[in-house]
Amino acid sequence: MERRVVAGGRTQSGPARLRVNEIFWSLQGEGRFTGTPSAFIRLQGCTVGCPWCDTGYAQRVDEALRLPDESPLVAEKTAASPAWSEFGAEALAAFVAARSLPGMHCVLTGGEPCSQDILLLTRRLLEAGLAVQLETSGTEALRCAGGVFVTLSPKARPPLEESWARADEVKLPVQTRADIERYEAELVALPPDKVCLQPVSQGREATALCIQTCMARGWRLSLQMHKYLDIR
Ligand code: SF4
Repeated sequence: MERRVVAGGRTQSGPARLRVNEIFWSLQGEGRFTGTPSAFIRLQGCTVGCPWCDTGYAQRVDEALRLPDESPLVAEKTAASPAWSEFGAEALAAFVAARSLPGMHCVLTGGEPCSQDILLLTRRLLEAGLAVQLETSGTEALRCAGGVFVTLSPKARPPLEESWARADEVKLPVQTRADIERYEAELVALPPDKVCLQPVSQGREATALCIQTCMARGWRLSLQMHKYLDIR
């Protein structure tokens, strides 16, 4: 089947081949699974354009920075870089499963992972016995397997309605009160333990606002633990 990639790396149709920025193993630092040892797969490409994006190196798909297909170098990066490699979904799942603890947590992140078709990848990861979490802005259709834990993180572009309905948790980045007010109607409609607020860039005022709001609403606080620990 033919595959076409448009600006920002969105795959329109085609076989399950995926652009990968990096693969690494660390503690999940955010949301419900904070502190959980995890395999991370960072997919390349995002068109959402958040001004505070801290993974800008995974936004653009630059052919000049393309590594050989299925390159193990994506699992050997020691610093963030925009270099990427294309993997078949089955090969990618096998690569990660073979290097992970049995039953390990596996996080699909980006970039925007849903700008690519991750249905086969998520199926194969689950079949390999891994627990799969998807971190998404919810701005693209969620083409993932049913057993995936979906973390919706609303960003600069509003999530699709179906993303709110599918989310297992909502993790909202907060700089100012306006960030909370923008999605207040959707957030208060959710069970409180599904909502977490995450201060952007560990800002003092944003952190105080998040604590105050969590205490008032019964929501959770997410602190990007990995940044405090200075780990990936
Ligand atoms: S959705 Fe995520 S990767 Fe894309 S621009 Fe926003 S923060 Fe960056």
